[in-house]
Amino acid sequence: MTNTSTNRSGSAAHTVGLDIGGTKILGALLDADGALVATTRLTTELGPDGVVRSAARAVRDVVDAAGLRLAAVDGVGLGIPGIVDARAGTVKHAVNLGVSDELPLAERLSGALGGIPVVVENDLNVAAVGAAHVLEREGAPVPDDGPGAAPAPGVPAPAHHEDLAFLALGTGVASGLVMDGRLRRGVTGAAGEIGHVPVDPAGPECSCGQRGCIETFVSGTALATAWPSRHGKPSPAELFEAAEAGDAAAIVVRKRFADAVASAVRLLVLTVDVRYVVLGGGVAQLGRPLLDVVRDSLREQAEVSPFLASLGLPARVTLAPSDVPVAAVGAAVLGRRDEQAGEGSPERQVPRGVPAAPTTSEERAGTDTALAGAETEGTLTWRS
Ligand SMILES: [Zn+2]
Repeated sequence: MTNTSTNRSGSAAHTVGLDIGGTKILGALLDADGALVATTRLTTELGPDGVVRSAARAVRDVVDAAGLRLAAVDGVGLGIPGIVDARAGTVKHAVNLGVSDELPLAERLSGALGGIPVVVENDLNVAAVGAAHVLEREGAPVPDDGPGAAPAPGVPAPAHHEDLAFLALGTGVASGLVMDGRLRRGVTGAAGEIGHVPVDPAGPECSCGQRGCIETFVSGTALATAWPSRHGKPSPAELFEAAEAGDAAAIVVRKRFADAVASAVRLLVLTVDVRYVVLGGGVAQLGRPLLDVVRDSLREQAEVSPFLASLGLPARVTLAPSDVPVAAVGAAVLGRRDEQAGEGSPERQVPRGVPAAPTTSEERAGTDTALAGAETEGTLTWRS
C-alpha cells in the first residue's frame, strides 16, 4: 500500500468494501460522501487463490453495478474472519475460507486490481465501523417508546461523531469498538473481546481455558445448549417462539439470556461509555423481540440502582441496520485513504501514556456524583 497523494475530488474518490465470509462475499461501493451507491453478492471461492480471485471479482462486479470503471475506485477495504494483521495486510487461520498460512491478501488483491490500495481488517471491526457510519448518516435509532427508555438527564445529547460498541452475538461473543470516530483495535488487537471476561468463577469451562466467561452465558452456542433446536429452525428463533407462545420453560431461558446480554451491554457502557451498543451477529437476527427483552432486563437492572438508571442504558442499545450490508460498508469506509492515515491505523497509534483525547471527567462529574465517585474509586484501586 503506497501512500501517494490522495485524490479526493471527482469520481476517483469512490471506495469499495468487501465482507468476505465462508460462503459469500458481500460488496459495497461508497461515493466520496460516503453514500452507498451499489452492492453485490457472490459465492466465495475457498483457499488462498480462490479468496483473492473471488474478492477481485466482487470488486469488479460492484463497480460494474454502479456503472463505473475500476479507475474510479480510490481504495478497497476488506473485512475477513481469521487472525488479521491490519498493518501488514495479511490474514491467517481463516478456517472457514480454507486459509491457514499467512496470506498477504492486501498485496495480492491490490496486484489483481492494477495497484489500487487495499486494507484488511477483521470482520467484527468492519461491522462496527459500518454500523457507526450508517447510524451517523441515518441519525439516531428510533428511541424506544417504553417507560424509562428516554436518556436520563445526565446523558449527553447524541454526539456528532461515531461512538459505539458493536456487540456480535454469534457462535461466540465479542465487540468491536468505534470511539470518538475511531476504530479501537487495542495494542494486540484484543480490544472488545468481552466474551472472555469471566463473570462466574464457578461457571462452565470456556473454550479459552477460563471458567464462567460471558461467552458461556450469552453466545449462540450457550443458547443452543440451553434450548436445543427441535423443529429445524435456529435455536434462538425456536426459543423466542416458544416463549411468545407461553411456554414457561422457554420464558425462563429467554429471561436468563436477556439478562446476560444486558449484563454485556452494561459492561461495555461502564467500560467505555459509548453512545450506542449495537446488537449484531446471528442471534440478533431475532430483531425487535430480542431488543425488547434486553431493554426490559436493562430497565429491571436499573430499578435497583440510581447509578445505572442515570446511564440511560435502554435507550443506548439498538439493533444493527438490517437493510444495509453493514460490514461491507464498514470495509469501504476503512478503504478510504483519509481513514488509513488516521489514528486507527497502527502506524499512527498514539504512544502509550499519551492521552488520545481530552478527558471528559469534569463534564461527567458535574452531571452525576455517583459516576464521579465510582470513577475516583476505580482510579485509586487501579493505582494501588
Ligand atoms: Zn473464555
